[in-house]
Amino acid sequence: MIKIYDTKAREKRPFVPVADDKVNMYVCGPTVYNYIHIGNARTFISFDTIRRYLIWRGYEVKFVQNITDVDDKIIKKANEEGRSASEVAAEYAQAFIDDMRAAGVMDPDVRPRATEEIGEMIALVEKLIEGGHAYEVEGDVYFAVRSYEGYGQLSGRNVDEMESGHRELRADGQGLEDRKRDPLDFALWKAAKPGEPSWDSPWGKGRPGWHIECSAMSKKYLGLPFDIHGGGADLAFPHHENERAQSEAAFGCTFSNYWMHGGMLQINHEKMSKSLGNFLLLRDVLKTTDARVLRMLMLQTHYRSPLDFSDERLGESEAMFTRLTNFVKNTAWLCANADGETTVDLVAYQKAIDDMCDSFIEAMDDDFNTAGALGAICSFVREANTILADAAVSSEDAAAVLAGADAVCDLLSVLGVDLNACEDEACDSSSEVVALAVELAGFTGCDAEGAIEALLARRAEARKEKNFALADAVRDRLGELGFVVEDTPQGARVSRA
Ligand code: AMP
Ligand code: ZN
Repeated sequence: MIKIYDTKAREKRPFVPVADDKVNMYVCGPTVYNYIHIGNARTFISFDTIRRYLIWRGYEVKFVQNITDVDDKIIKKANEEGRSASEVAAEYAQAFIDDMRAAGVMDPDVRPRATEEIGEMIALVEKLIEGGHAYEVEGDVYFAVRSYEGYGQLSGRNVDEMESGHRELRADGQGLEDRKRDPLDFALWKAAKPGEPSWDSPWGKGRPGWHIECSAMSKKYLGLPFDIHGGGADLAFPHHENERAQSEAAFGCTFSNYWMHGGMLQINHEKMSKSLGNFLLLRDVLKTTDARVLRMLMLQTHYRSPLDFSDERLGESEAMFTRLTNFVKNTAWLCANADGETTVDLVAYQKAIDDMCDSFIEAMDDDFNTAGALGAICSFVREANTILADAAVSSEDAAAVLAGADAVCDLLSVLGVDLNACEDEACDSSSEVVALAVELAGFTGCDAEGAIEALLARRAEARKEKNFALADAVRDRLGELGFVVEDTPQGARVSRA
């Protein structure tokens, strides 16, 4: 049973989705006015890993992530650069999509953009006004925080204490916002200022506030209540508190059943942020670092804990990645050269594989403890390296030994680390035939053509050695991938079935 730490409950709760085998998830996306940094990437990689694990555990996951493409920061950037806000937003939205793909993050099932869902937001604001939860002041519309009694429950804040904090601000003469009935109220709709992007509404021309966007889009694409709402810890207040207040006030039901928040990526114990200027852009880091190495660095820390990024940690992660890759390659080589008597205790070996799988699931079921899951894989590899050192394997037992490498690859791919992928974009990175050649022929390249050549060479060799089991395995496994091996007087030929 999977347990999830729910920010609102402030404890781990057994995960019970609304529908038995389906999970509806919403993770707030970026405001697109700049390239994303590796802090943003950490949050997105964490939720990508959670999504992949839920899929692997048999759930049909629907993952929705918005793009905030209208916002003060976008408008400011557009003004600075003498461009339109929509031009700036379109450029950085595409850059975000490209960066996420380069980082190995799966595309969401739905990626709504705020500017394409304005009608939905206006309808929600109207509903809130009708229900007495919102009011208009000269083209602005505000949410009446005190009209919703659950306000503050998500982030653990008390409305009266928040109010006195605001009063102090007022006493200093700052934060005076006379248009609002209550200083805690926040904007649902903002009247247009000259030169800003705007849309027609019952309150005149204007644009939506940030929070209403996610309330409208999550309801439209997932329905209420949905299962998991996620984002970085810095979004819990005010963004998620406000989303929840709007949605629950409007629809009178629970908004999200579980609230998940990721810890901040830091540099020198300080949050990485655009405003502090201490950021590293994801696209710059990926110029010199394999995306899988970066992901493994992140997975070594629990998603809720702060993570200190450093070159040293990157180096450690690189070393771990190399250890894992070498194990898989060495096992493939050992099995491809299977010969003579098996010296490995296969029962003990299989038990070590089973133990790794059990520990992996136990760790991941416990609020997605990726550090524990990686630990299970690494300790198996350590043990397997000892067992397989100087070992011999017979061709009949090759599959039983390969199972260890297969399990390592499978579990890592659940975490989004595909050991068989190749960094070189020019090659067919996900090619199964390359994986097969690595496994059966000790292939070290990454192109499909080279892989087939290596497999045919291995098959010819195996036949010469009268290792017909291996020769047949090459032909049959290629067959499973849709290739036909034909023996001609000039040698073997491979074609697509
Ligand atoms: P923003 O575009 O600022 O709304 O951020 C997009 C996502 O990145 C949000 O989920 C934030 O919580 C998250 N985020 C921002 N800074 C960091 C950081 N230093 N570490 C982890 N997540 C972050
Ligand atoms: Zn949001």
